[in-house]
Amino acid sequence: MVFGLFKSKSKSSFRSVLGYNMDGKPAHVRIVDGSSEEPAVDLTMHITENCNFSCRHCYVSSGPTVKDQLMKEDIIKVIDQSSKYNCAGLLLTGGEPFLHPDLDGILRYAKDKITPISIFTNGFWVTDIKRTTKRLKELRNLGCDHIKFSIEDKFHMEFISEEKRLIIKHLISISDNSMPVLETNHEKEKVDPVGNALSMPESELKLNDPENELCYDLWFDYCKVSFKKMINEAHLTIRANGDVYSCSFYVKKIGNIKTDALSAIVNSFFSDEEYNIIAEHGPQELARRKGIPEEEIKRRFLEHPCKFCHDLLNEN
Ligand code: SF4
Repeated sequence: MVFGLFKSKSKSSFRSVLGYNMDGKPAHVRIVDGSSEEPAVDLTMHITENCNFSCRHCYVSSGPTVKDQLMKEDIIKVIDQSSKYNCAGLLLTGGEPFLHPDLDGILRYAKDKITPISIFTNGFWVTDIKRTTKRLKELRNLGCDHIKFSIEDKFHMEFISEEKRLIIKHLISISDNSMPVLETNHEKEKVDPVGNALSMPESELKLNDPENELCYDLWFDYCKVSFKKMINEAHLTIRANGDVYSCSFYVKKIGNIKTDALSAIVNSFFSDEEYNIIAEHGPQELARRKGIPEEEIKRRFLEHPCKFCHDLLNEN
């Protein structure tokens, strides 16, 4: 089962007004204006950055000594504030979300307010089939629609036992409507150069051959389309310290749920000049406007598109 199948359809419900790009040319900027037609938001919450594993590739640099975690009250505040939008879904992740002391309470509160609710976990809490089945049914009743177990790649496999992996796979094969939809992540040999992975050898990183220009235009178009989709759905990634980003790789902070209202965060997301340039013209245009020479744009983008985008949006 693919997670996307759960997604509710988002309405196109933005008020388009004219704003101005950095070069003074007009650009469409979306504003949340409190009208009845509200835009969609899609919430990813890293409810804790604490984790009992310390995977070498962890893009959020989680581990047993990282203690940041979202308070239940802050999570509830965001859930309440999201009710005025077409909320496309809530993903609870980490760190390891099952280490959050209020996980059940968070689910109970979000149930019937947001659908679907998903959890990404490393599966450490899985015991035997009987007890885990009981827990899965409990999670379903609490409002959890979907659980993804990260157990299929060599990095997580350094921590999870073979016995647990077999139990999880068996549970997936026997699961029914009384449990959340269960799935595992995809196998991966190489990872994106972000978070902990920045200190890994290049042989384990997803890096393109800078000489291979075949995918250059294709990638830029892909970025443009992804950004358009991301902006249309306001995909908000909330870190365990409350900071909000536009992308799960923690690209460009746009607010903090402890100090800013969700409507202000969503507004700055939609009206962000840099996001709109990427969505309309592609990341290379933003790089040009930042004065990066054409050859350097090509080289950095071909090396790793996501890292380039990350650096572009975080550097001035
Ligand atoms: S299990 Fe997930 S959150 Fe924990 S260290 Fe590994 S990748 Fe990071």
